[in-house]
Amino acid sequence: MKNYCFWFCTGSQDLYGDECLSHVAEHSREMVAYMNASGILPYEVVWKPTLIDNALIRKTFNDANADENCAGVITWMHTFSPAKSWILGLQEYKKPLCHLHTQYLQEIPYDTIDMDYMNEHQSAHGDREYGHIVTRMGIERKVIMGYWKDEKVLGRLASWMRTAVGVMESSHIRIMRIADNMRNVAVTEGDKVEAQIKFGWEVDAYPVNQICKAVDAVTDAEVKALTDEYYDTYKILLEGRDADEFRRHVEAQAKIEIGFERFLKEKDYQAIVTHFGDLGSLQQLPGLAIQRLMQKGYGFGAEGDWKTAGMVRLMKIMTEGMKGAKGTSFYEDYTYNLVPGKEGILEAHMLEVCPTVADGDISIKVVPLSMGNREDPARLVFTSKTGTGIACSLIDLGHRFRLIINEVDCKKNEKPMPKLPVATAFWTPRPNLQTGAESWIICGGAHHTAFTYDLTTEQMVDWADAMGIEAVVIDSDTTIRGLKNELRWNAASYR
Ligand code: MN
Repeated sequence: MKNYCFWFCTGSQDLYGDECLSHVAEHSREMVAYMNASGILPYEVVWKPTLIDNALIRKTFNDANADENCAGVITWMHTFSPAKSWILGLQEYKKPLCHLHTQYLQEIPYDTIDMDYMNEHQSAHGDREYGHIVTRMGIERKVIMGYWKDEKVLGRLASWMRTAVGVMESSHIRIMRIADNMRNVAVTEGDKVEAQIKFGWEVDAYPVNQICKAVDAVTDAEVKALTDEYYDTYKILLEGRDADEFRRHVEAQAKIEIGFERFLKEKDYQAIVTHFGDLGSLQQLPGLAIQRLMQKGYGFGAEGDWKTAGMVRLMKIMTEGMKGAKGTSFYEDYTYNLVPGKEGILEAHMLEVCPTVADGDISIKVVPLSMGNREDPARLVFTSKTGTGIACSLIDLGHRFRLIINEVDCKKNEKPMPKLPVATAFWTPRPNLQTGAESWIICGGAHHTAFTYDLTTEQMVDWADAMGIEAVVIDSDTTIRGLKNELRWNAASYR
């Protein structure tokens, strides 16, 4: 990824005299320095000279467009800045925009306040004028209100920066399909041309045997080295299998991992889609290999599901380098526990769950696959972390996309499941299993999800807004009646 930064642009005008303008510049410099030193922001903020007229505003926004490291502009009106002077710049600006509605001083200086103070510290006034024109022009932007030293405010700015990078990087997501959609499955289908128009995603198909050739070209020495690494990293659960035979199965996945990664890098793709029914000359369904690629940041979707692959990649980008990140993965809603008080969904897939979500030991198992016609695949097996997360499903409604975001509470499995040879999570959707699942189905959500512990609903809604698509949130406040009305209103809005 690029070394992204964000520009901090302070608005004012020349009505208040040079002394006031020098204070404005001084204050905004101090604020930028503080924000950068806070350790809260994932990307650097770059101070820009105070914007006081049409020409400079237009030039600054166009410079921001042209600077490939700039992922967005943060605007703030320290004083009043007549908003007509922002029209041309805003019209030509193409990147994410944040309006930080803050004020240099936290408290009204009751004993000394006079009209000079009021003229200098009037973002309550100037930010409204500026906000008006952005709204009138119909420009999507994030508004964050609060004191600039407040950790919560900086935390929201940090979150928005990750969303903005997601918006910028979305158009660099290239998804490789090495199989078509699973026959007759509806929800994994979609309009790839529209996805490129809306999200910038490039979705391309490759004949499976072309990637098989890349796998065949991997040398024995390379396979041995990576298999040794697996054996050093993971627990080996032979479960009665012969140790040499077991290792040969693991080696097949090492060969796939190296071959696939080489092919993806050579062709410049950051997400991949497979299908157990279309494996060409591959010995096994890619299991462990795909799990490792997801861990490295690749997006993945099974059975030809390129939309989920794109979402997993997007969420990997948005969480990149996050301190204390708990993980992002592809999942499938599999089986319910309907016991009162213990309701939830067991999440898994045939093989492909990302090890970033793992809690504790990760083991390798070799077990037959009940589908397809290949040898028993090696896979990484683990349980996942507890805590809140979001499960996202991007669906194609035929004439438009909808992003469904469900907040979920991840829990420990009540008991071990020694006979289940796949990685799992167990979660209860909000507001509860019944309303959560009913809502998901009413929204048309898929059985595949892109899941993360590390992003918020707000971030994904902001991303969807930036892409111009509908976002539906299922959370603690969701009621079926409210949701159905929201979908009706959205149907009128997103035509
Ligand atoms: Mn599936």
